[in-house]
Amino acid sequence: MAKRDYYEVLGVSRGASEDEIKKAYRTLAKKYHPDVSKEPNAEDKFKEVQEAYEVLSDPAKREQYNQFGHDGLNFGSQSDGFNFGGFGGFGGFDDILSSIFGGTRRNTRATGKTRGADLRTSITISFEEAAFGTEKEIAINKYETCTTCNGLGAESRNDIETCSQCHGRGRVIVEQSSLFGRIQTETTCSNCKGSGEIIKNKCKTCNGEGRTRQTARIKVKIPAGIDDGQGLKLSGYGEAGTKGGIPGDLYINVTVRPHEIFERDGLHIYMEMPITFSQAALGDTVSVPTLSGNVNLKIPAGTQTGTKFKLNRKGIANSRTGVTGHQYVVIKVVTPTHLTNEQKELFTRLSRTNEESSSFFDKIKKFFK
Ligand SMILES: [Zn+2]
Ligand SMILES: [Zn+2]
Repeated sequence: MAKRDYYEVLGVSRGASEDEIKKAYRTLAKKYHPDVSKEPNAEDKFKEVQEAYEVLSDPAKREQYNQFGHDGLNFGSQSDGFNFGGFGGFGGFDDILSSIFGGTRRNTRATGKTRGADLRTSITISFEEAAFGTEKEIAINKYETCTTCNGLGAESRNDIETCSQCHGRGRVIVEQSSLFGRIQTETTCSNCKGSGEIIKNKCKTCNGEGRTRQTARIKVKIPAGIDDGQGLKLSGYGEAGTKGGIPGDLYINVTVRPHEIFERDGLHIYMEMPITFSQAALGDTVSVPTLSGNVNLKIPAGTQTGTKFKLNRKGIANSRTGVTGHQYVVIKVVTPTHLTNEQKELFTRLSRTNEESSSFFDKIKKFFK
């Protein structure tokens, strides 16, 4: 299923302020809260809203999204990139809600699940790959969900029991007598170490952790138009969480190798085009390289060094906005260094006839007097 536009999900305009985004999010999050909503597919809708808010409330992510859309944020798998895990009894979800609504946490069962760590890596691509987009495979050594137990940590589901001491809460109330009478304190359950459950037979592959270190090969889709120093986020491609907890995210920093002749400024491309004295003076048609092959450029007679010619829409195309930059060709008249005798003679004859520039040189002479 195609992903909906985040602005559309929240029902706000592209220019919406942070406040407007927050307000829209609160309204929708309440409406689709899976525990209270009667709407069909409330959970899916809630996730969608959650995801849109996560991106649009963060200026850096929002900028990235505006430029590259969903591609710029997540491109591993288009449908389930943002993995928020299950909602039932998942502590993290309540944390999200309580931080937004200031609400009280319901008495959720502790599960010992933790979110996997985020990872960072970098990737270097060529100028052309950045311009046209590419796909690269990277290998990363990281924690992945244990394939033997599917993250359960136990030999089988029947090997997991609710901790009898804390009844799954992960915390127990201890009563102690003191000089002042009996006092109650709540502490982490020592029997289950706070996870709320006891594994009778731990998975032998991961020793109950639900994850193992593996080398993951990840295909990274790099959107056309990406620039040096920009980043990509692959949601859910960080380390696996413990005991089936949600995975972290993978952040990739993109370095673009400089090109031999092209230089880039946003979507525009600049290049210096050397021409000879005679081409500059008499005019000529020269063949100029562009990303999409050579094109002919007409140089008018009397062209000076530094003259800039624009090749319309020969720059870099942004895959999301559809905007294409231009290529600018900056002329450089090259002074010859090794002249043949014949050329020397021609230049000498030329200099005697050079009325136009002599007035300029006269001015300089006067200035130094
Ligand atoms: Zn316990
Ligand atoms: Zn395992």
